[in-house]
Amino acid sequence: MSRIAFVNGRYLPYRQAAVHIEDRGYQFADGVYEVCEVREGHIVDERRHLERLSRSLGELRIPPPMTPRALGFVLRETVRLNRVREGLLYLQVTRGVARREHAFPPAGTRPALVVTARTRDRAKAETLAEAGIAVITVAENRWERVDIKTIALVPNVLARQAARETGAGEAWFVDEEGFVTEGAASNAWIVTEEGALVTRPAESGILRGITRTVVFEMAAASGLKIEERPFRVDEALQAREAFVTAATQIVMPVIKIDGTPIADGKPGPLARMLRARFHAVAEIGE
Ligand code: PLP
Repeated sequence: MSRIAFVNGRYLPYRQAAVHIEDRGYQFADGVYEVCEVREGHIVDERRHLERLSRSLGELRIPPPMTPRALGFVLRETVRLNRVREGLLYLQVTRGVARREHAFPPAGTRPALVVTARTRDRAKAETLAEAGIAVITVAENRWERVDIKTIALVPNVLARQAARETGAGEAWFVDEEGFVTEGAASNAWIVTEEGALVTRPAESGILRGITRTVVFEMAAASGLKIEERPFRVDEALQAREAFVTAATQIVMPVIKIDGTPIADGKPGPLARMLRARFHAVAEIGE
């Protein structure tokens, strides 16, 4: 079956799905995106992803490409046309197509919207989570506005590639003061000796992950303590557990940082529990 993409108002087979060379996403990375998990054919946490999309668009002063209701329809239709049961949904909005000039294009330039959906092997992801992933640390080198989910991801690309080249699954950015900010495409967490979950406040230095927000709700519901504060790599190396969160990874145990095993070097019980219960708490679409 040929995959179908939604591109600026049309559902097209992949080989015909293309954007203009003067699209500002291509020229300037002038756009934003979202990634949602699809589970049993339903979009996970769609409402929150669309709210964050609105916020990202607002921060960049890109007009919404369509109403949230229409966009919700396009998302579900893209999942359906691609017959995705288990997988990922990707959507990208750019400032549209215009003659190349850094300043905003003329008023009325229509934002460009692309939506794709693909199937992923859930069993493979579970096998990976049972083993856990290694993480490397890299110097933070991104701009300050990482709270906006922009498509300008070159530092993230280089960080993730550096991780891959050492056999690790993720890279954690570390700021000038030695505090972990977040992963190349995930939020970073550790568990203290007392069993508290520690993650950096979303006020600066990180993207406010939707999965992170759901973990906050799970923690509240199950009486787990969360300490929302920055932590250093040293503290992470001494932690009882470490893990990352992202729509693409749910809750993924971290078993090694820069080659040093965390605790006994196996996925920790809290990370495993949060992963197992995640979908009972996340909002699953109709
Ligand atoms: N931080 C960064 C830089 C990301 O790219 C992502 C997800 O891709 C996250 C955090 C986690 O966000 P979410 O849980 O909404 O997927």
